Amino acid sequence: MTAPWTARVLTLFPEMFPGPLGLSLAGKALERGDWALEAIDIRSFATDKHRTVDDTPFGGGPDMVMRPDVVDAALAQATQDGLAPAIYLTPRGQVLTQGLVKRLSAGPGLVVLCGRYEGLDERVIEARGLLEVSLGDFVLSGGEPAALALIDSCVRLLPGVMGAEETLDEESFEAGLLEYPHYTRPADWCGRQVPEVLMSGHHEKIRAWRRQKAEETTRLRRPDLWAVYQEHKARVGAKN
Ligand code: SAM
Repeated sequence: MTAPWTARVLTLFPEMFPGPLGLSLAGKALERGDWALEAIDIRSFATDKHRTVDDTPFGGGPDMVMRPDVVDAALAQATQDGLAPAIYLTPRGQVLTQGLVKRLSAGPGLVVLCGRYEGLDERVIEARGLLEVSLGDFVLSGGEPAALALIDSCVRLLPGVMGAEETLDEESFEAGLLEYPHYTRPADWCGRQVPEVLMSGHHEKIRAWRRQKAEETTRLRRPDLWAVYQEHKARVGAKN
């Protein structure tokens, strides 16, 4: 039997895992063995009697830096099979996109390194060729919440994890657009009506309405995505 998609998380707080990943669809899939999770305690690779993992920064500064030797020993164990890409979560990394999530979920899994303090000694990032990934332009107190988000976004794309595969086809970013709005019962809520077309049963009209709303939302909220979408449409149109 081949090994399932596996996330190995290097952290100073292994007790944070699986956390929310142990619940709902991801949790059920974890129980079924559709994917696997290992939380590896970086501190267990410390070699002194105080189990030190950090030290003061050369050049001065207010906060500590994670030691390269300790982190490297943890990475050496986690990347032993040499299969999964090793990622360091950092605000300095490339911002996570659905495109990257798709590529990562199509592979054998991830090794995810969670920083704490000021972050990691630069030399271990270079030496290990770590892929630096950011969750966005804000600063968390540690990489663990980012790791949970990254793993969650990958796991939900694994075969069999989501109930209805077609849900994935229509999601935000799938066609380069944000998703259209959703409605459910009651049809009249506090005087607010559900758009009539959605209750028409006319599938073609519903598809067209949803596409129009997705385009409108993307154009208004995310000019960056809209520009890419327009370019893509022009290229595809020019080919046909
Ligand atoms: N000194 C760092 C800086 O200014 O870029 C911030 C360090 S932060 C307090 C500690 C750790 O949280 C980082 O090493 C990283 O692992 C994680 N982290 C913080 N913000 C993040 C983000 N936006 N994306 C991914 N990881 C983040």
